[in-house]
Amino acid sequence: MKLDLNEQPHRRYNILTGEWVLVSPHRTKRPWQGKQEKTVTDDRPFYDKACYLCPGNKRASGDINPNYTSVYSFKNDFSALLEDTPSTTIEDGLLVAKGEKGICKVVCFSPNHSLTLPLMPVPSIEDVITIWQKEFDELGAIRDINYVQIFENKGAVMGCSNPHPHGQIWSQNSIPQEVIKKGEQQLRYWQTNTKSLLGDYLNQEIKANERIIWQDKYFIAVVPYWAIWPYEVIIAPKRHLQRITDLTDKEKASFAKAIKVTTTKYDNLFETSFPYSSGIHQAPTNGLAYDEWHFHMSFYPPLLRSATVKKFMVGYEMFANPQRDITAEQAAQTLRSLSETHYLT
Ligand SMILES: [Zn+2]
Repeated sequence: MKLDLNEQPHRRYNILTGEWVLVSPHRTKRPWQGKQEKTVTDDRPFYDKACYLCPGNKRASGDINPNYTSVYSFKNDFSALLEDTPSTTIEDGLLVAKGEKGICKVVCFSPNHSLTLPLMPVPSIEDVITIWQKEFDELGAIRDINYVQIFENKGAVMGCSNPHPHGQIWSQNSIPQEVIKKGEQQLRYWQTNTKSLLGDYLNQEIKANERIIWQDKYFIAVVPYWAIWPYEVIIAPKRHLQRITDLTDKEKASFAKAIKVTTTKYDNLFETSFPYSSGIHQAPTNGLAYDEWHFHMSFYPPLLRSATVKKFMVGYEMFANPQRDITAEQAAQTLRSLSETHYLT
């Protein structure tokens, strides 16, 4: 009997992490009586005197932000990692711990408190990429820093405490688990094929043309075959690049456009400022080559069927593995059909 991926429960394999997701497309007809999130009316001023990220304002540390005019980064006043932590290992029977050194930074995407990435012009998003590159270079060059994680939490539902457009960079001594998983999968493929795992996957996506939401000559945005979050997207360069610092100017402009289009479609989906966590996975910075690595940016948005209904990772997902109802193909079709012009403009 043939398996119908549009109708029947099945598992899909994530080639980048080696993990599985359960897909239950037959459940999309199920009525929803669960939790509805409150919609936040997003009417924010250009400048907020109470915002610790706005230009000229005082932060918790007592430092005053300069009157920055495009992007601005600074050391997080409440860093999760600190530079002077000893890297000592403690082993007490089965209890194991290790000191972790690191540096955490905040990156303000714009001086304008009211903006978000989808509302910023493409050249301004290029400025954000430029500061990501600069921070990646500088932090990665520090001897004790072996991985640089760039990420953004957008929206209160993702635990973002300040609506000012900003992201974070946590850099640290050890290589984090998600990066290790993806590194191992890519290395295994590289050793067998001497080719990029993600590159070959993207070529297959281009041929299938079922899950692509946007592409140009340099970059592609796709709902991955193994997506966990309802409208999860991967943005990746078509060229096999290990790090964001490997981009040419044309590729950087294309990357900015891919971010702009993806986040604009997100906002247009439910006509709301669409929450998500996004992050860039790339080669570690411990001085090794990591030829197998193909850098990419992932978006994990929690909204499921409206601006007020989000997906929960509970029950089966906590105890077994992730699960989704709408298929990656359905999500991609929806995103693809949405305008590249923001609904507010
Ligand atoms: Zn602000």
